[in-house]
Amino acid sequence: MSESKLKGVTGLPDLGTRTDEITIFAGPCSVESEEQFNEVAECVAGLGLHWIRGGAFKPRTNPHSFQGLGEDALKIMQSAGQRYGLKTLTEVMDSAHCEMVHSYVDGLQVGARNFQNFSLLKNIGAVTAESHKLVLFKRGFAGTISEWLAATDYITMEGNDNVVLCERGLRTFETATRFTLDISAVPVIHKQSLLPICVDVSHPAGVRDLVPPLARTAIAAGCDSIMIEVHPDPQHAKSDGAQQLTPSQFEELIHDLREIAAVFGKRLV
Ligand code: PEP
Ligand code: MN
Repeated sequence: MSESKLKGVTGLPDLGTRTDEITIFAGPCSVESEEQFNEVAECVAGLGLHWIRGGAFKPRTNPHSFQGLGEDALKIMQSAGQRYGLKTLTEVMDSAHCEMVHSYVDGLQVGARNFQNFSLLKNIGAVTAESHKLVLFKRGFAGTISEWLAATDYITMEGNDNVVLCERGLRTFETATRFTLDISAVPVIHKQSLLPICVDVSHPAGVRDLVPPLARTAIAAGCDSIMIEVHPDPQHAKSDGAQQLTPSQFEELIHDLREIAAVFGKRLV
């Protein structure tokens, strides 16, 4: 067992990479055009936040659904990042794309569907071993926390421990939400790992009106980071339209979350 996990289970204070900052990863589900992405980037930067997310390669359940713009999306992300002074985060779905994606963005996401794609995890660890670029590792929707932490080692053992774990909801019998958000993952990860924990509040919600209460809950639970999908025109989004916030809804939510974070002595970045 690694030293970090031992510290967690013996109840010693949390150290590691956690700070009094809560990092917001906001942006559209899919990068659809330069105009669309820049509009969100302008909003995110205007709020003083540091990161923008966007899907370039989309893991769609149905192969006939929009699959993402691929490398064109990465170019749009890179230029928006430079223009608005933002760091960029996108999902890598295929080991063959690791080098290419790594060359365009600041953070690489592993999606829920690749939770136990161990060769992809190793490749992402290897490609980021020198740069130490951030890897956001989502929990699979049927994965236990111990499986999650074990899989994390496939990334870190390649030489990059700059990993953020991301809870994004589980598949359960419940159908009122898209996925069941396991909010207890936040304190459990804090006990068992020194890595920061992000809560994706959009994918479990499935619909936008559930996003603000889940985000408030994530802060109260002690999360280190939150992921929120934002789209300038959600009704016409090419993926996940129902759950994406408009820029003005996002702005309102960020003001709200800043007040809640302050109660815990934290600030949003
Ligand atoms: C995403 O964040 O774009 C995504 C596809 O999420 P997940 O892997 O959690 O379904
Ligand atoms: Mn999405």
